[in-house]
Parts: sequence; C-alpha cells; structure tokens
Amino acid sequence: MKHEAVELLSRYIQFDTTVPPGNERLAVDFFADLFDREGVSFKTYEADAGRASIRAVLPGSGRKDPIILLNHIDVVPADRSAWHFDPFGGEVRDGYILGRGTLDMKGQGIMELLAFLAMKRGGMSLNRDLIFLATADEEALGFKGVKYLLDNYPEDFRADFVLNEGGIGVSGIVPGGPLMMIATAEKGPCWLRLTRSGPSGHGSMPHGENALERMVQALHRLFSKEMPLTVTPIVAEYLMNLGIGHRVPKEASADERNEGIIGALKESGYIAVPQVAAMVKNTISLNSLHAGVKTNVIPGQAEADLDIRLLPGQRIEDMVQYVRDVLADDAIAVHQMLGNEANESPKDTEYYRIIDTVLLEHFPGAVVSPSLLVGTSDSRFFREKGILSYGITPIVISLQEVGLIHGVDERISVDNLLKGTEVTTDLVRRLCSY
Ligand SMILES: [Zn+2]
Repeated sequence: MKHEAVELLSRYIQFDTTVPPGNERLAVDFFADLFDREGVSFKTYEADAGRASIRAVLPGSGRKDPIILLNHIDVVPADRSAWHFDPFGGEVRDGYILGRGTLDMKGQGIMELLAFLAMKRGGMSLNRDLIFLATADEEALGFKGVKYLLDNYPEDFRADFVLNEGGIGVSGIVPGGPLMMIATAEKGPCWLRLTRSGPSGHGSMPHGENALERMVQALHRLFSKEMPLTVTPIVAEYLMNLGIGHRVPKEASADERNEGIIGALKESGYIAVPQVAAMVKNTISLNSLHAGVKTNVIPGQAEADLDIRLLPGQRIEDMVQYVRDVLADDAIAVHQMLGNEANESPKDTEYYRIIDTVLLEHFPGAVVSPSLLVGTSDSRFFREKGILSYGITPIVISLQEVGLIHGVDERISVDNLLKGTEVTTDLVRRLCSY
C-alpha cells in the first residue's frame, strides 16, 4: 500500500498547473475536497479566472498570532520532448515520485498539508491559528497569488510567522552531515528594459547611427565592467559555515573578515561557482535582445532586457544610475519593469531557534545555516508587511539533484517526501504548542 503522502503527491502532480496560464483552480478543488472530508474550514480566492488560491485554518487558542504554512500550486513549464517520463503523469517508480513540481514545490505542499492534517486528526490543542495556504502565480512573480491576497484580504493573512520554500538540505558540501539552509533573506529583482532608437536606412549605406550597433557597443561597456564583491552578514555566516574563510581571526573587523572571505573564495575557486558568485555581488544578466527584421535594413530601434539582482542593502536608484553611467549613451532610454530591493527576516528569533533544533534532531551531524536566496520567492510580500518568513524544505538532496529544480526529469525520492513530512509535522507541533 502506498503511503498517503505518495498517493497525494502523485495525484497533485497530475494537475497541469504550468504558468502561464496557471490553472491553479484544478488543484484548489482537489484541496477543497480533502478539507471537506476532513471537516476543515477553508476559503478560496480567485484573482482571475482559474488563478485560484486556497486558505484552510485550524483554530487555536489565540495565545499567539497565527502561523502560515505557505506553498505555491503553479509550476514552471516542462518541455516534454526532453523528459524521460510524462512530467504530469505522477508516476511512482524505483523509489521516486516523478514529475514537474515534485521539488518546486508541490512536494513541500503535501508535507505541509499532512503536517496540518496531523494536528486536526490528532485533536491537538493549538496555541494559535494554524493556516495552510496554497497559492497561484509564484513562478510568475506572485502578483495573482500572494500579492493579490495580501492587498485584497489583509485580515485573512495576519500572521506572526510564515514557513515557505527557499532553503533546502544538500549533501556532500560540508563534511559530516548535510548542509541545511534556512533562507532568511533574498536578493531583490530589478528588471530594466533598454531602448535605443536611430535612423533606419539601407544596409548598403551604413550611416554610423545604427540603433542596434549603438546598443551592442553600450552593452559591451556594461558587461566589460566587473561588479564589486560584497559580503553581507548572512552570507558571511553561510560561507564560514561552509568552511570558507575559516582562517579569518574571530576578532577581525567586518572589513577584514570580508576581505578574508573574498580572498578565500578566489583562492579556492569557489568564486567561479555561479550560485556562490551571485551571493557576493549584484548580478546583471542580458536575457533578451530584439532588433531588426531584414539583413539589408538598418533597424530603427533596438531593445534589451536586463535581469538585475540586488544584494541586501543596495538601492534600486543607485543601480539604475550605475547602469546609465556605464552604458554611457544618453539616447538609451531605461525603463524599470520590476523593482524590489532585497528583503530579509531577522535570524535572532525563537522561530529560528526552534527550526534549528528540529533540523539537528532529525538530521544528525547537519550544519544548519542561514542563507541568502539569490532568486525570489513569495516571502518578499510577507516581509514587506513586516511578517517574519523563512524558507526551508526539510529534505536532503545532492548538488546534482538541485539542478532538477526547474530542470528536466524533476523528481523527489519517496524517502525524502516521507522524511520531509515527518520533520514538518514535528516542527509544526512544536511551533503550535509552546
Ligand atoms: Zn518554488
């Protein structure tokens, strides 16, 4: 007989909630049906047709403010031709549940669901309301999911703490146990669209004002310049936990420590690892460039999209000014399409200590560390409202398996799903009983 977690995840994977278009309503109905049968009260929300989210609640004594178990329903697209199995088949084979979303993040959604239901089924008396929240649109920036919910129904999402994705356990990085990351911070996405106009003309008579050529020259200036390296406190702690910069003396000043860590990153070659490099600098990635329609026509316009990610403590306006200065072409218009500064929850909290304790108990020998998420998650919307949010998926995967997230042949082991369910349940029990 299959374990309930396996059964549920397999069914959950079979709802194709690829965004766009999302169709999260399919999975919301699945959850609603489960909550009906368990006698749990819930509410659904719909930002646009089909773009649904669901909130279920177990009432507590109200001695403390609510906790939200947050997970997103939508998944990123899967190119079926590259996969070795049906990404939406929900197949269980050789100890794995296969499919898009198993790691990001339907697997964790099921862990949270079963932890939530365990409190209900066990008749636990809770020190606070416990909220299960499955949302739309996270992979498309969350505007039709968490952002919509917090803007339109703030009273439903008053909370003391949000448990989300963003950190995970990885084996083979530190000696001994796994590295268990608790994401307490994330970088800020700042997306810029650059537009350059110029006279068009015949390709046989270059006039020197070609918009595309000018854009390429400006971009070359931008990408020829190295970003300075900066070690923020959370990243310093994370890298020290990884054993990088361990020769830096304890009494070193912050500047000396940062210098020591950067030196160690360069010496060890870690600075060449994109995930590590992204933790110590603002990054700029040119991800789209449009101009021209015909080989013999000088284009009248060129457009380039930059995906910039800001470290904590950096301001958007400073970055925009930096980009303008380095492009050094006044004819390039800079339009900000998205702008969030980095966000962070303090680490020195009772919640962090409880999570740390639970992880150490369930993963002996683990190194538990705060970490900086270099991407984004829905945590940013809660942190903007002053609500504490940490990202931790309590499972252990290898570095290769990390590549399955948003990748080809995504899967989670049955062992990880069951372990993650057990740890989440234990964690929720403690958070709701002290
Ligand atoms: Zn995710």
